[in-house]
Amino acid sequence: MSGNLFNDAVQFLENAARYAKVDPEVIQHLKNPKAILEVSVPVRKDDGTLDIYPGYRVQHNNTLGPTKGGIRFHPEVSLDEVKALSLWMTLKCAVVGVPFGGAKGGVAVDPKQLSRMEIERLSRSYIQQVVDFIGPRRDIPAPDMYTNSMIMGWMMDEYSCIRRQKTPEVITGKPIPLGGSLGREEATGRGAYYCIKEMEREFGWYPADKTVAVQGFGNAGQHVAQLLADDGYRVVAVSDSKGAVYVPEGLDVTGCIDAKNATRQLQAVYCEGSVCTAMDTQKLTNQQLLALDVDILIPAAMENQINLDNVNRIKADYIIEVANGPVTPDADTILSDSGKMVVPDVLANAGGVTVSYFEWVQNH
Ligand code: GLU
Repeated sequence: MSGNLFNDAVQFLENAARYAKVDPEVIQHLKNPKAILEVSVPVRKDDGTLDIYPGYRVQHNNTLGPTKGGIRFHPEVSLDEVKALSLWMTLKCAVVGVPFGGAKGGVAVDPKQLSRMEIERLSRSYIQQVVDFIGPRRDIPAPDMYTNSMIMGWMMDEYSCIRRQKTPEVITGKPIPLGGSLGREEATGRGAYYCIKEMEREFGWYPADKTVAVQGFGNAGQHVAQLLADDGYRVVAVSDSKGAVYVPEGLDVTGCIDAKNATRQLQAVYCEGSVCTAMDTQKLTNQQLLALDVDILIPAAMENQINLDNVNRIKADYIIEVANGPVTPDADTILSDSGKMVVPDVLANAGGVTVSYFEWVQNH
């Protein structure tokens, strides 16, 4: 990551502020997170040794309600990144009108190196460190990159054990039997899909005429690809961190999802398993996927993917920011100057926090 992601987020804010009638003191507040907690997260490993990871929780602004935002487990998590993501959460909640402010949390750890039990201990340990900072009417976490409903369940349980009180409303994105909400799992992808459906209506598109490439095949990327393919859009390429698969006539999205979830690796399985024999796929790098000549490009992986180095290779006319901050501010200016349309993250991926709000209300 750039190490300057928070500066990027502030630059987006300043650019937007020029168009909005906002008191400069409001912008001054938004440039400064309200509270920052930095912790050490100890985890006992299966082999008996101890690892300690840096962890963070940033509450950005609580003017509109308790602060809200996910927790990510990723090796590149840093305070700078968490601050930027918390600012975007404040804007995102305001854009969709849910009564929350913004927050974000994270642990700098590679969860792919941990066993399931180590991830459970990590999740519980993180909650032990931040327990007095979060709360059902104060700051409510949720899933983000490499965290999921199972992890939210462990976190809710740990918080409830410490407080000696069942507290499902402290965290959202839980499994349904533990107080989760129907629709939360697919909500982020569905929100992006609704944005595309609005564009379809506005511009008079025929889905079968439109090609789509999706970078990032986690929860949000999978669901938006599936919903678009079900409507007849031609999803020609999808990728994960290992690389991309490309079929100009359109991929079998369901097959990709099954392959990815069976082995957690898209390219290897897609191209060695049964799906591949039924279809002629090309392997691409993530950079090649971003440069494909498609109509709709969906960066759904992580921040800083479209930047000054590769923006001139982007051919898609419509870029839907399903990840948080996938386009840097200078690349964003170049895209709009060349007539391309970017649907910003604070709208395109706001479906997740919208259904999180429903879940929180149901829990109360
Ligand atoms: N992590 C998600 C996001 O970036 C969801 C946040 C939430 O549900 O609170 O929007």
